[in-house]
Amino acid sequence: LVQAQALTKRFGSHPVLHGVSLNIARHSTVAIVGESGSGKSTLARAITGLERIDSGILTFDGVPVPQQGHRALRQHFRRVQMVYQNPYSALDPRFTVAQSIAEPLANFDRPTRATLHRRTSEALDAVALPQSYLTRLPSELSGGERQRVAIARGLILRPDLLVLDEPVSALDVSVQGQILQLLVDLQAEFQLTYLFISHDLAVVRQISDEVHVLNQGRIVSSGPTAQVFDASTDPYTRRLLAAIP
Ligand code: ATP
Ligand code: MG
Repeated sequence: LVQAQALTKRFGSHPVLHGVSLNIARHSTVAIVGESGSGKSTLARAITGLERIDSGILTFDGVPVPQQGHRALRQHFRRVQMVYQNPYSALDPRFTVAQSIAEPLANFDRPTRATLHRRTSEALDAVALPQSYLTRLPSELSGGERQRVAIARGLILRPDLLVLDEPVSALDVSVQGQILQLLVDLQAEFQLTYLFISHDLAVVRQISDEVHVLNQGRIVSSGPTAQVFDASTDPYTRRLLAAIP
């Protein structure tokens, strides 16, 4: 679904991605792991179309990810949605749950009021929240519930790819497990592909099919998750893995 070849990106004189190549197969979960500042979010944003690349080839479903042009980018955003780390800042505090979830669809499609209601209510259902939550504000939700709303918002356009940038890092451990299970269930139900960004290797081992280890903007280890975890000979990867219990 996604093919990236030799992507580079710099901010001013500071290089952040140095020739990153990876593929994301349809219906798989591909993880990017690496320390803070390694370039994970920058790579995720490039694939989402939110950040221009300086060089390299980046295609989505065989078509170059648009680097400019409002219309072309809109078409891309329809199919690629992003869920962010912090459920406290991801939702507009003034929007009700219904407004937050409906917003992407309202912006893209000019749907009828009935369609908007139906799709919003279906998305809320998909993340296992009761319909009575539609009128709540973010301040009236727990962290895990907010993240469910953020995921419903990511689903309403029925994207092919969900980019999950540390989707459970800000949550406490018991809630992390519930959200991860929800993501696994949603992937099967809606045939989603996931790009899963995380610095939590235990979580990555649990849910991803493939993993790419990013160190200072370079992929130093790649492959099926078990293979990278059990057999990578890259010293940086081994050091990262040694840190988990
Ligand atoms: P974290 O795990 O902390 O989220 P990350 O791996 O996601 O880190 P990035 O957010 O991709 O890291 O940032 C990589 C580098 O690029 C950092 O040094 C950061 O300061 C720099 N950077 C990111 N965005 C910008 C920007 N818009 N302008 C300038 N520098 C940036
Ligand atoms: Mg980041």
